[in-house]
Parts: sequence; C-alpha cells; structure tokens
Amino acid sequence: MSRLTLFKLLFVLFLFSCSDEESQFNTDESIQVYFERFENEALIRNIQVDLSDITSDIIDIGEDNIAGQCFFQSHAPNHITIDREFWDNATTLLREMVVFHELGHCYLGRSHRDSQNAQGFCSSIMRSGLSGCVDNYTSQTRTTYIDELFEL
Ligand SMILES: [Zn+2]
Repeated sequence: MSRLTLFKLLFVLFLFSCSDEESQFNTDESIQVYFERFENEALIRNIQVDLSDITSDIIDIGEDNIAGQCFFQSHAPNHITIDREFWDNATTLLREMVVFHELGHCYLGRSHRDSQNAQGFCSSIMRSGLSGCVDNYTSQTRTTYIDELFEL
C-alpha cells in the first residue's frame, strides 16, 4: 500500500467518525415529538416549517426556574436544551409550551413578549417569566397561544 492510499484511507475513516459524532448530537427522541407537533401546527396555519436543522438534548441545566434554553450558533445549527428535572415532571402541555417557546427563539427568531390581559394572564408563551404574568396554556387556550406564536 502506498503512502498516499494509506493517507486517503485514514481520511475516509476520519470523515466517518466525524459523522458518527454528529448523529449523537441530534434531536433528543422525546423532544422530537414536540418538534413534529410544531411543524404540524405551522402547517395547519399554512406555514412551512422544517426543524431538521435544529438539534436538542435533555440535560441538567442546574439553574433555578430555567426549563429550556436556545443557543444561536453561527457555525452549527441552533440548539435547544431542556432541563431533565423539568422534563421528567412536566405534563404534555407544559412540555409543549416550553419546547414551542424555545423554538420561538431558535426557529422563529422571536424575542420575549411580556404583555398580559386584564386577568393577568400572559398574552404570549414568549413571556420572559420575569414580568409576573401568569401562564394559562391549556387545551382550551393553546390554539390562541399558538396563533400568537406564529404572529397571526
Ligand atoms: Zn425565552
């Protein structure tokens, strides 16, 4: 085997090991369900959304009151992390609200919106959590909140 062939072989192996690592840093399977919901909710509203570029994982964030985070990365796909303790204890609706909030940042490019209605309920799931408005994301209100999320 010539030196050049050996070099090529090593290079190919290197490429393969790279793509292996990438696949480990993909979307967490239990979060993927909510990514699909987000794409479906967009489609219902005639908006084409493809979240295949956004990665996610569930980790111990270890900071009080932080359920999720969106990281904007210039040289890699945007990345969402969800706190494990939050995730393990959250209802389906609450998980959806938090994943949709982070996708509001990471995919829709939205920032926080802290306005509230007369009853003190947050007008948006894009609330910062610092303003004192009360979350009211229920099976009855979610359609309105998701409309607002997509700014309809
Ligand atoms: Zn936020």
